[in-house]
Amino acid sequence: MKTIGVLTSGGDAPGMNAAIRAITRYATQCSGMTVYGVEKGYRGLIESKFVELNTGSVSNIIQRGGTILRSARCEEFKKTEVRETAIKNMRNRGIEGLIVIGGDGSFMGAKKLSEQGMPTIGIPGTIDNDIAYTDYTLGFDTACNTILDAISKIRDTMSSHERVCIIEVMGNKCGDLALYSGLGGGVEVIILPEQKMTVKQIVDKLHKSRNTGKLSGIIVLAEGAGCSEELEKKIESKTTIVVRSTVLGHIQRGGAPSMQDRLLGTKFGVHAVQLLEKGIGNRIVGIRKNKVFDMDIVDGLAVKSKFDKALYVTARNISG
Ligand code: ADP
Repeated sequence: MKTIGVLTSGGDAPGMNAAIRAITRYATQCSGMTVYGVEKGYRGLIESKFVELNTGSVSNIIQRGGTILRSARCEEFKKTEVRETAIKNMRNRGIEGLIVIGGDGSFMGAKKLSEQGMPTIGIPGTIDNDIAYTDYTLGFDTACNTILDAISKIRDTMSSHERVCIIEVMGNKCGDLALYSGLGGGVEVIILPEQKMTVKQIVDKLHKSRNTGKLSGIIVLAEGAGCSEELEKKIESKTTIVVRSTVLGHIQRGGAPSMQDRLLGTKFGVHAVQLLEKGIGNRIVGIRKNKVFDMDIVDGLAVKSKFDKALYVTARNISG
């Protein structure tokens, strides 16, 4: 392949720029390719929003959150004829292969583009870590660190007032953000979609914690496991503990990518170009046991859950 495209689709995630940079630099400097960035995800393919990327245009972006190509959702892309227009627009630019950085929805689009004759590679980019075939997605580590920072700050005020705070975090239907940040933040209770708790269990745990002399408490609640405000009311109705709740929201999506996400974006990006170089499409890139690999998109999307029950049990066993 002489010319390839790259786009970011679905929810943005820190590390996407590191991937765009690696794709551009590796493809132009090592493979002699021309690279086009596509603006605003699949929408940009339909509207021919192509911008040539080179070494200079991806300078000074590795440390930036978000995506310089911008992202969008594009319902029309589910229609075959719309994807045909997209492929025609790519061919007019000489684009022979495409890299899509996004979540599992974006991978469906990538699969269909490959089936319609445009070799496409997917890179998992979402803070939620809700793509089961890969241990980690781009942006997850940074989002965990953002949550850790929030836990520390909230802990200060909760200790001063002897209160309990429920911190609701993102993750879609996946509890990884809550589990990893809850464990790393040393919180008292972690509630996950994969491992829900009754109000009685939560209250018992809070009382047990108070009995050890701890006067504050942090509950990390995954958004897929319930609503923090409702839980706050339920706990307060059953105890004398003062409870506050905070929904962290979009702050979790932003910020400079962590070292881990810069490294992952770079490795995923280079691997994706190497596949297109060989004319291979319809694959998604991932990392397992610290090794980057690729697999068929359909097989990858069929992997259902990677919930780390042992890690959850450890977190529960060592919480105070
Ligand atoms: P994410 O990629 O983060 O999971 P979405 O599920 O919103 O986010 O998907 C992003 C975009 O991928 C959609 O707006 C649409 O353009 C495309 N897409 C999603 N599902 C399909 C599908 N079944 N066929 C074709 N394109 C799809």
